[in-house]
Amino acid sequence: MLVSRLAPSPTGLLHPGNIWSFMLCWLAVRSGGGRLLLRMDDIDGPRSRPEFARAIIRDLRWLGFDWDGPIYWQSGRTHLYAETLETLRERNLVYPCFCTRKELRGLASAPHMGEAAVYPGLCRDLAKEEREAKLAARLPFSLRIKTPDTSCVFNDLIQGARSFPNHGGDIAARRSDDVYSYQFATAVDDFLLDVNLIVRGRDLLSSAPPQLYLRGLLGAKTVKFAHVPSLLSPDGERLAKRHKASSVASMRERGVSPGKIIGEIAAMAGMNPEGADRTLRELIPRFSWDKIPREDLIWPDTL
Ligand code: GLU
Repeated sequence: MLVSRLAPSPTGLLHPGNIWSFMLCWLAVRSGGGRLLLRMDDIDGPRSRPEFARAIIRDLRWLGFDWDGPIYWQSGRTHLYAETLETLRERNLVYPCFCTRKELRGLASAPHMGEAAVYPGLCRDLAKEEREAKLAARLPFSLRIKTPDTSCVFNDLIQGARSFPNHGGDIAARRSDDVYSYQFATAVDDFLLDVNLIVRGRDLLSSAPPQLYLRGLLGAKTVKFAHVPSLLSPDGERLAKRHKASSVASMRERGVSPGKIIGEIAAMAGMNPEGADRTLRELIPRFSWDKIPREDLIWPDTL
């Protein structure tokens, strides 16, 4: 059975970029007969705020989204991340990394590393005495997972066959402030919740290799990805939480109806050529991955 999830981060209000990928996710599940979960990715304090989580849930309902079962809050699941990390540590796959942000930034700007800098495993091979001395000196450390330098190939429902030279280097699982990383929490949760379809923005495409690697360590459950094109603001920037005027909350305050918002976004997805107001349910029979544009889209921002 198809299992997917809407996974907002409550670090701001819901905006059309979220609705766009959530709509495709919702339609994929509701047209294919499966389970759709709602997971709040709220461990990234202090950026995550309960009032944003409440506003996102309210706005999703207002737009006609529904989901199956309870809301999963990552902040209430950290014991699961801790247990999982412990099992990996017992398999000798985890080590403390003492590199500071500044050191890592220095690496990223070194001439040969370019933008796709991967952590070169500096702390992986520390001598036992050196590691123990750093621990004894109470230097802050993150926890990393040994990740081999092998290529990663997968087939994305939207992006087609994609190949990456590696999985992004030794994956940081827990930061030095004890917060679990996005990569780790997401991969563990998707695995434990039996998610087998991940629909999200194209900007997260490069997260697929580390997440696939982590899943492989946890067990053999397959997953499909659909990294959907981004919604850009008219100035060509990716629509994000900082574009306050286009948040769902602000459109509602201006009197824009849910049908209008859904209709507009469906039109961009090739599912509403008439451009009429629509409900999500009306779109179910019109959904197909083939119709989804492959290029980024401009949100007109006129609503
Ligand atoms: N919570 C993440 C975000 O809002 C998305 C997680 C995911 O879909 O993997 O950016």
